[in-house]
Amino acid sequence: MSLSSIIKNTLVRVSGFFLNSRKSRCIFYHDIHSEVRFTNMSNSVELFKDHVKTIRNSGFEIVHDITKEYNQISISFDDGWRGIFENIELINRLKVPITLFVVPSFLDKENYLTEKELVSISKNPYIKIQSHTLNHFDLTSLRDDVLKEELTFSKNRLESLCGVLVDSVCYPKGLFNSKIVNFATNIGYRYQYSSLPGSYYKDIYPTVKRRSLVQHLSSRQLEYTLRGGDSILYFWYKFKHIKK
Ligand SMILES: [Zn+2]
Repeated sequence: MSLSSIIKNTLVRVSGFFLNSRKSRCIFYHDIHSEVRFTNMSNSVELFKDHVKTIRNSGFEIVHDITKEYNQISISFDDGWRGIFENIELINRLKVPITLFVVPSFLDKENYLTEKELVSISKNPYIKIQSHTLNHFDLTSLRDDVLKEELTFSKNRLESLCGVLVDSVCYPKGLFNSKIVNFATNIGYRYQYSSLPGSYYKDIYPTVKRRSLVQHLSSRQLEYTLRGGDSILYFWYKFKHIKK
């Protein structure tokens, strides 16, 4: 483990211990795997099972959409990797609602969901499909017309493919700025998800929600994150993720 992750873990642990928050929050992953691992950002199914147990044993309800200030957790998976499809039985068995933020241009590429697989799992009541933009570009680096296309085309593509309403987007690599927030809101994204840690109802912009990346955390580390421990890293992430 690198020195920076040791420092980060210690800070999260100490601050989680003292905060002991019950506030609702969003957490996110990239994939789960049993035999074949499609990305090194993937969690083993055993670790994911442990996480779900930790969340529920800590008294949190796992929901698609957070509606209460306290005691709810929403779980999402970014990019559209194939492991979710291969391990859909586990999701059904755990009865755990999850949201997939999908990049339509990645579909049918090696290690990603095929269009057919996406359509099939979109019918599963535990799965919600939302947008992660069309090509996963850094949105802060785009011309206005391309930015508009990234947000609009991905929404339209996923809506027509899966027959669902797509009203949320998460920013590729967590990068955004106030212009992107305005564009996304005007295009019809009620909610936009950043990678800034913190509780659900703590907004910087009314439509932007915070999320904590929890893949690879031990159950103990996850517990401290659920208690709000990673809020201490907020300004560091803000500095890294909100661009001019
Ligand atoms: Zn991504």
